[in-house]
Amino acid sequence: MAETILVLNAGSSSIKFELFDIGPEDRLASRFSGQIEGIGVRPRLVAASRSGERLVDRTLALENAADVETAMTVVETWLGETLDAAPIAVGHRVVHGGPVHAAPVVVDERVLATLETFVPLAPLHQPNNLAPIRSLFRRRPELLQIACFDTAFHRGHPELADRFAIPEALWEEGIRRYGFHGLSYEYIAAKLPEIAPELAPGKVIVAHLGSGCSMCALRAGRSVESTMGFTALDGLPMGTRPGQLDAGVVLHLLTAKAMAPVALQHFLYHECGLKGLSGISNDVRVLLASADPRAKRALDFFTYKIAQMTGWLAAALEGLDGFVFTAGIGENSATIREAVAHRLAWLGVKLDPHANAVHGPLISAPESRIRVYVVPTDEELMIARHTLALLRRRPTGEPA
Ligand code: ADP
Repeated sequence: MAETILVLNAGSSSIKFELFDIGPEDRLASRFSGQIEGIGVRPRLVAASRSGERLVDRTLALENAADVETAMTVVETWLGETLDAAPIAVGHRVVHGGPVHAAPVVVDERVLATLETFVPLAPLHQPNNLAPIRSLFRRRPELLQIACFDTAFHRGHPELADRFAIPEALWEEGIRRYGFHGLSYEYIAAKLPEIAPELAPGKVIVAHLGSGCSMCALRAGRSVESTMGFTALDGLPMGTRPGQLDAGVVLHLLTAKAMAPVALQHFLYHECGLKGLSGISNDVRVLLASADPRAKRALDFFTYKIAQMTGWLAAALEGLDGFVFTAGIGENSATIREAVAHRLAWLGVKLDPHANAVHGPLISAPESRIRVYVVPTDEELMIARHTLALLRRRPTGEPA
């Protein structure tokens, strides 16, 4: 039986998991993926093999998946029933590695304590990311657990890029621009030499357009700037988050509108972005299908901001050779890509309409000054790779 690695991505209402077989020469192949969705509301366990065969689809009693911790027990039990042998390691997606973690890390009590100090930096995500680590620690102390961070790939930024124009003491406290979606960008950067070898050593902007949206400037495969900052609220407008927002608006909502901080947090994470702007939906598919002028306005704003941020990132790169679209919207919507490309015509971007319609990978016309690609991302595979790499690097004799 092949050895396996389990990847876990725990959010506030779901735990996503994917199991990878470790093949010859340490090649990783996904065996199945699934999730418990609707945690605390209407929990359901679903999983399917890589080929699409449904392995489980079970509605759960609310008390069995009332929170991430109890839901994790359900995942463990199902995995126990399904697998011949336990995974040899678990890789976790952890949103925040703080200023210290520039790479994935084997989690022990000391590391876990450090990661807990970053909870105030990502109060909605970090506690959920850490809950399964803690519960596995308790129940399966022999299991090797690796934390992979959304922030780590950006830790090589020049210091200027990570600064706000605020007093130094706040920088020392960790109030700085971290950047997110790093596992996605790292995966793309690793894929470029294979898909676009001419771009890999150059200046490339990657647009991760999913339910969260951000863009990253890569120079020779390393992140030098990103549109997300201190939190995943900054930069591009997203499904329900506003992106870049004058701090004065936040002050206004707190003072003139007397909004409570908790209500303001909910507003900024769940009521803004495409949903707030359109008043219709956070889903780009719904907006594209709508004849309502508010839907068009929201999408115009979205592509306008992507184009603006391209200029911002190109300035950080001092040039631009390539542009990559990825994630749910970037990989699937030829219409959004076309609209963005249209706004970037001044930079010399020209798409090949047919290549764009079939989602590339190369979607720019031969005469385009900027090479444009669609590259599907795979954050789970990136986590599995990191986990395996750390596993192999462990000195023999240590428990795995
Ligand atoms: P996440 O992993 O962050 O939840 P995804 O990368 O899966 O997000 O992206 C989800 C988003 O992708 C959805 O909000 C949806 O609007 C968008 N999306 C998926 N398919 C399409 C499509 N064919 N056209 C436009 N948008 C799409």
